[in-house]
Amino acid sequence: MSGKIIEFRPKTPLRIQVLGDEYEITDDLYFGGCPVCKKSGYFLNVERDHWCVCDEHKTCWSIGSNLFSNWMNEDWATWQRNNAKLLTCTVVDPWYPENR
Ligand SMILES: [Zn+2]
Repeated sequence: MSGKIIEFRPKTPLRIQVLGDEYEITDDLYFGGCPVCKKSGYFLNVERDHWCVCDEHKTCWSIGSNLFSNWMNEDWATWQRNNAKLLTCTVVDPWYPENR
């Protein structure tokens, strides 16, 4: 699977992988990690809101709204699937490395 640059404002483009409804963050921990395993996991969108998710520990944390343009290519069915997944997760404060 090839990396794809998706527009990210206002910072520089972030390299992420598109995995169906989900977007893997391949630049380490820019948006923090799961407080249990310290991995950044992936994010998904519910309308214009972006959420990181750790499937293993069922955690999620909000990373902002309308930072990536990809949500505009999605539809209600995708957001309903994504919202259903978020409802299975606990909202947490993300972990960040000390030297960032
Ligand atoms: Zn985790």
